[in-house]
Amino acid sequence: MPKPRLYINDVAVRDGFQIEKAFIPTATKVSLIDELSATGLAKIEVTSFVSPKAVPALADANEVLAGIERVPGVVYVALVPNIRGVQNAAATGAKPDELNGVMSASLTHNRANINRTHEESLAEVPAMVRIAHEAGMTMSMSLSTTFGCPFEGPVSEDAILRFVEAFLAAGVDGISLADTTGMANPRQVEALTRKVLERFPPRDETFYTLHFHNTRGMGLANVVAGIAAGVRSFDGSIAGLGGCPFAPGATGNICTEDMVNMLQDMGYETGVDLDRLIACARRVPAIVGRDTPGQVMKAGPSLETHAVPESLKERI
Ligand code: ZN
Repeated sequence: MPKPRLYINDVAVRDGFQIEKAFIPTATKVSLIDELSATGLAKIEVTSFVSPKAVPALADANEVLAGIERVPGVVYVALVPNIRGVQNAAATGAKPDELNGVMSASLTHNRANINRTHEESLAEVPAMVRIAHEAGMTMSMSLSTTFGCPFEGPVSEDAILRFVEAFLAAGVDGISLADTTGMANPRQVEALTRKVLERFPPRDETFYTLHFHNTRGMGLANVVAGIAAGVRSFDGSIAGLGGCPFAPGATGNICTEDMVNMLQDMGYETGVDLDRLIACARRVPAIVGRDTPGQVMKAGPSLETHAVPESLKERI
């Protein structure tokens, strides 16, 4: 049986760069996005329409969107925390293709992240969808802390199903289940996402996305569990950039090129040119001024062979 086609999205320029202390120049963001556009990724999350006071690192949303060269077939995404973000995205000249609204399954994290109750957040979603659609953009919703909250601990499966139902009722075009603080384990991922997909079958292969962080080393195992449950779309961040400002000590998102390397070795078609993706990842340490957690960017792809060292040659 042929293995299913998988869809890989990169969020480094948004999820990763948003927590960088030093402002990354707009031209650097644009050139990295343009290079990512040529790798075969399905989606690139390029910026965020948030208050520049809250996230100064992404204050150049309009300039980034106007500066990038769009490649047909690639979906360019911007994160929006609320209806204001949708309005600002709708008003900009070079609009993103898709908006990604965000709320947290846990109340404490929702308050910490976007300062809202669940009712306040959910009440806005239908209008967010309407405004996005009127402006020619699709609107998806991300549910943070789906697999656990650093303040409240486990989140009940029923609560997650209720959020998914509410998002569907609001007319969203996609739903991302996010493990913002790296608390998911593979067995939990498979059980919960299977339940979600059975109860609310996806209308297309990319309707549901899984967004994992590798905080406790389980990120790629969780991807495999998600595939087993039927999910086909996955977020990652080149070089493993990212984190969560409210999860102390948290490391970044799962690393996109590590994920693609694993999936290709397993025989999946990702549509991604791994060498090009690794080349993008290798630019990142110089951009952020430090080492990054990505592993394949250091070790090379699994199928890259090396010359046998002279010292070994006599023994084989
Ligand atoms: Zn994330």
